Amino acid sequence: MTALWVLVALAVLAGGAWRLRWARDRARALHAPFPPDWRAMLAGVPLYRRLPAAERERVELAARRLLQRVGFIGCGGLEVTDRMRLVIAVQAAMLVAHRDPRAYDALYSVLIYPAEFVVEDQEEDEFGLVTVGQRALSGQTIDVSRIVLSWQDIEAGLAGDDGYNVVLHEFAHHLDHLSDGTLSQGGLSLRSAYDDLCAAVDRDEDTLIDPYGAEDLVEFFATATEVFFERAASFRATHPALHAQLRDFYRVDPAEWPEAR
Ligand SMILES: [Zn+2]
Repeated sequence: MTALWVLVALAVLAGGAWRLRWARDRARALHAPFPPDWRAMLAGVPLYRRLPAAERERVELAARRLLQRVGFIGCGGLEVTDRMRLVIAVQAAMLVAHRDPRAYDALYSVLIYPAEFVVEDQEEDEFGLVTVGQRALSGQTIDVSRIVLSWQDIEAGLAGDDGYNVVLHEFAHHLDHLSDGTLSQGGLSLRSAYDDLCAAVDRDEDTLIDPYGAEDLVEFFATATEVFFERAASFRATHPALHAQLRDFYRVDPAEWPEAR
């Protein structure tokens, strides 16, 4: 009988030790810098290439956390590769690396389609008449647990610092959702820059921020975030007040990063 209890106690202790080791290994893995083959897979990501060394470590840490927790699911026949996971995770991580690397903990899955995907859509006109139709999207933030992305559009965004980046766009929406929309509604700089964009779009002028941002303040916040990171120097010169507001929010100034080599 006594021998049996000793065995049970040993088994419990061994189990505890194993769990401790597992937790320690997991924490170590979370804090390790990216291995060279991961970095090689990210060579084609202009924003990642621009990161100063210290900045890159912070981003990699936040990306690791996202990679460990979030499920990446291929849709429409797409097979998810490590490169896809990495390309999405590092760019998403740039938004939270200086704020809170746990910011994406509510996110459960990222769904990836090969190209634009079609969703059912309802539109109500000024007389209240509702038309049901379909819309092709490059990205969608459904709720705080799911983000849908088109891989073709992610790749198109890697072509250069053109201010088009569907990953930054949808993850900015995600942060806005988490704040119950207060991010996109907040601040005078955001509102006045939004009014300026609407006026410029009405006049058919070329704008630094995607004209799609004139849809509403929610889209404006997401499109302004794309330009804040991708065309940082021009953004700072053109929209200094809005640049300062986003810099204070993201707690980073990409205009200080060197240009992509
Ligand atoms: Zn959007």
